[in-house]
Amino acid sequence: MLEIRHLSKSFGRHEVLRDIDFSVRPGDVTSIIGASGSGKSTLLRCINLLETPTSGEILFHGESITGGKLNANTYRSKVGMVFQSFNLFNNMTVLQNCMVGQTKVLKKSPQEAKENAMKYLRQVGMEPYIKAKPRQISGGQKQRVAIARALAMEPEVLLFDEPTSALDPEMVGEVLSVMRDLAQNGMTMLVVTHEMAFARDVSNHVVFMADGVICEEGEPKALFADPQNQRTREFLSRFR
Ligand code: ATP
Ligand code: MG
Repeated sequence: MLEIRHLSKSFGRHEVLRDIDFSVRPGDVTSIIGASGSGKSTLLRCINLLETPTSGEILFHGESITGGKLNANTYRSKVGMVFQSFNLFNNMTVLQNCMVGQTKVLKKSPQEAKENAMKYLRQVGMEPYIKAKPRQISGGQKQRVAIARALAMEPEVLLFDEPTSALDPEMVGEVLSVMRDLAQNGMTMLVVTHEMAFARDVSNHVVFMADGVICEEGEPKALFADPQNQRTREFLSRFR
């Protein structure tokens, strides 16, 4: 469904991603792990067209997303993103946050957008808060709204960039539990995370990055139990 081929990205002379190569199949839950600065966010931002790769390509259902053939807005609506800092619209209610993309981008009627938003807010357990503004709810609740907002666009893939890193520890669990349910329901997900238990137990593929390259990737249980690369071993030893 997504193929990343020889992707490189430089900012000036700084090469942040080098020859990144991996694939995502429908229903895959891929965790991307690695130290700060290894290029994880830049990789997600390239996949979401927030950054333009310096070289290499990204194929979505076999078509290049940067080649010009595929409409950028159509592609973006199929690839949802959940950020560390929620990025909710603070002047809108929870419900409005989950409707605005549907009415503005997908051109759905307000009625249809509302019904759809309610469906996903119910799924993440935020239905009782539809009239609240973001400042009136907790961080974990904000992130669940952000997930509902992304789902309401009915994307084919959801990208998560450290969705629990900005949360107080007691709120991490509620967000991970929503993500685990999504994974079990077959959602295709690409998750940058420092939650090693999630990477090991929920995803079916793990990619370990260091200094802009993929050092090791594979089946989570094997990779965590017996990492083959020295840098993977060093990184994982910090979580033991
Ligand atoms: P973290 O775990 O801290 O979020 P990361 O793995 O997501 O780290 P990136 O944010 O992708 O890492 O950054 C990788 C490198 O690219 C860093 O050295 C960063 O300073 C650099 N970088 C990222 N964005 C830009 C930019 N817009 N301009 C210049 N350099 C950038
Ligand atoms: Mg990052």
